[in-house]
Amino acid sequence: MPQYNPPLRDMQFVLHELLHAVDELKLLPAHAEIDEDTINAVLEEGGKFASEVLTPINLSGDQEGCTLDKATHEVKAPKGFKEAYAQYVEGGWPALSCDPEFGGQGLPVLLNQFMYEMMNSANQAWTMYPGLSHGAYEALHAHGTPEQKTTYLPKLTSGVWTGTMCLTEPHCGTDLGLLRAKAEPQADGTYKITGQKIFISAGEHDLAENIIHLVLARLPDAPQGSKGISLFVVPKFNVKADGSLGERNPVYCGGLEHKMGIHGNATAQIVLDGAVGTLVGQPNKGLQAMFVMMNAARLGVGNQSLGLTEVAYQNAVVYAKDRIQMRALSGPKSPDKPADPIIVHPDVRKMLLTARAFAEGGRALSAYTALQLDKALSSDDADERKACEDEVALLTPIIKAFISDNAWIATSHCMQVFGGHGYIHEWGMEQFVRDSRINMTYEGTNTVQSLDLLGRKILGNNGATLKKFGKKIAEFVEEEGTSEAMQEFINPLADIGDKVTKLTTEIGMKAFQNPDEVGAAAVDYLRVVGHLCFAYMWARMAKLALEKKDSGDPFYTAKLSTARFYFAKLLPETASLIRTARAGLSPLMEMDEALF
Ligand SMILES: Cc1cc2nc3c(=O)[nH]c(=O)nc-3n(C[C@H](O)[C@H](O)[C@H](O)COP(=O)(O)OP(=O)(O)OC[C@H]3O[C@@H](n4cnc5c(N)ncnc54)[C@H](O)[C@@H]3O)c2cc1C
Repeated sequence: MPQYNPPLRDMQFVLHELLHAVDELKLLPAHAEIDEDTINAVLEEGGKFASEVLTPINLSGDQEGCTLDKATHEVKAPKGFKEAYAQYVEGGWPALSCDPEFGGQGLPVLLNQFMYEMMNSANQAWTMYPGLSHGAYEALHAHGTPEQKTTYLPKLTSGVWTGTMCLTEPHCGTDLGLLRAKAEPQADGTYKITGQKIFISAGEHDLAENIIHLVLARLPDAPQGSKGISLFVVPKFNVKADGSLGERNPVYCGGLEHKMGIHGNATAQIVLDGAVGTLVGQPNKGLQAMFVMMNAARLGVGNQSLGLTEVAYQNAVVYAKDRIQMRALSGPKSPDKPADPIIVHPDVRKMLLTARAFAEGGRALSAYTALQLDKALSSDDADERKACEDEVALLTPIIKAFISDNAWIATSHCMQVFGGHGYIHEWGMEQFVRDSRINMTYEGTNTVQSLDLLGRKILGNNGATLKKFGKKIAEFVEEEGTSEAMQEFINPLADIGDKVTKLTTEIGMKAFQNPDEVGAAAVDYLRVVGHLCFAYMWARMAKLALEKKDSGDPFYTAKLSTARFYFAKLLPETASLIRTARAGLSPLMEMDEALF
C-alpha cells in the first residue's frame, strides 16, 4: 500500500522563506493576529489527519467504490469514509478558513490550500466531499440572501451538511447556455425545480445529514443561452424555520457513474422532480454567482493534481532506492549487491526529478496565488484588492490546467518507475494515474481553460494583467541580473518572458484576421505561460537555496539541484510549444471535415 509523508519542510519553506507569508498576512486586518507557530501547528495536525486517517482508506475506497440502493436512492460511500468524515468534522477542519460570523475560524485561504494539498495526496476521492462543500459555502457567502446565509452557512462551515454544484446535463457540459432544467416560481417565493443533472460529484452519500445542492436552472421567461440561467439552492431535506430538518425534497440520485478513477467519490445522476429551491443572487445572473464556486473549484483541481504529483513522487523514490535491476552504465554503484538500485539510472532520475520539480513548482505557484487571494478578500486597500483579484483571475486557468497536465505526466512517470509492478493495483501507483486523469477534464476541460486564459484574460484586456504580472518578473530579473551565481536561472527566465510577450502579440495580430487562431494556439500557449510562472517561482527558490546552500541543511542542496534540473530539462519544452503555437490554424483546418 502506498505511503504518504506530509511535505511539511517544503511547505514551511514556501510559506516562511519564499512568501514571507506571516508578514504579508499580518498586514490584512482579518489576519493581524496570525503567527508562524499557529501556521506550523495547523499544518502538522492536518498532516497527521491526512496520512493517518485518509491514506489508509484510499486504496480500499478505490477498490470498493460507492453503492446505490435503487429502492431508496441512498448512496453508501466506501468503508471508512463516513467515520473519517466524522473525525474531520469533530476536529473542526471544515471551518478552517470560513468566516467567524458563521462559526468559522477565519484563518487564511493560504492555510486551507496546504491542508487540502495534504488531503488530496492522501485521498482525492474522499477530499472531494468537503471540497465541494467549501465551494458551495463560498458561493452562498458571496451571493446568498441574509436568510440563506443564516440557514446554510453555519452547517456548511461546521461540515454537518455538505454541498454540491449541479451544472452539467446530458446534452450540455462546456456550453451551459444549452441547459434545460426549469424553475417554476411559487406563490410563497420559492421555486419548483425540474430537470436532470449528470456527473454530480458528491451528489449523494451517507457522510452528512443533509446535502445542499447549488443548481443552475431557467426561469419561465428567461432569455435563451447563458444570459437566461439562474442559480438556486436546493437542499436534500428542506430546512424548517428553527433550522431542523423537514421533509425530503424530491431531488434524487437516479444512478451512479462507473468511471476510470476517483471511485470513492459518488458521481451522481441527479433527478429534480419539482424540488423546492430558493433563488441565489439575481434572476438570469446565475452563471456570475456560480463562477465564485467554479473559480474556487478550478484552484481546487490544481490542488488535487499537486497532491497526486507529490504522493506519486514520494512512493516512486522509495521504490527506486529499494528495487535493484542492472548495473549503472558507468560501473557498479552497489558492488555488495547483485545489481544496483534503479535510482542510479539516468532516466529513472529524470522521471523522479520531473515529478519533484512539478510538485515543488506547483506548490510554490499555488501558495503564491492563495496569498494573492487572501489579499483580494481581506486587504483594506481597494486598489490592492482589485490588483490581487485580477492576478488570481489570470493565474486560475494556469493552475487548473498546467498543474493537472503536469500531474498526468508525473503520475505516469512515477508509475513507470515501478516497471510492471506500477500497473498492478496493490502498489497504488495506477490509481494515482487514473485519479489524476479527471482533473484535466472537469471544471472546464483544459482546452476551455486555455481559451479562458488567452482569449478572455489576456487578449480580452489587451494583455494588461499579464503585463502587470510580467512587471513583477522583470523586477526580479533586474534585481538579480548582476549576480553571477544566478545567471543560470535569470537568463532563461528573462528569455521566456520576452518570448511570451512576442508570442502574445503575434497571436493577437493573427486573431484580428481570424478569431479561430486563438483556438489553434491556446493549449500550447497556456503551457508556455505555465512554464513562465514556474520559471519565476523556481528562480526565486534557487536564489534562496544559493544563499543557504552552505548552511549544512541538505534541504537547500536538494532545492538547488531540482531548480537546475527544472531549467535544464523541463523549461526547454517551451521551444517546441512556441513553434507549434506559431504554426497556427491552417494545418488544423486544411482537411475537409468529410475526410476525417
Ligand atoms: C467524474 C466527473 C465529475 C464531475 N463533477 C461535476 C460536478 O460536480 N458538477 C457538474 O456540474 N459537472 C461535473 N462534471 C462534468 C464536467 O465538468 C464536464 O464533463 C466537463 O465540463 C466537460 O463537459 P462535457 O463532458 O459535456 O464535454 P463537452 O462539453 O461535450 O466537450 C467535449 C470536448 O469538446 C471540447 N470542446 C467543447 N467546446 C469547445 C470549444 N469551444 N473549443 C474547443 N474545444 C471545445 C471539450 O474540451 C471536450 O474535449 C463531472 C464530470 C466527471 C466525469
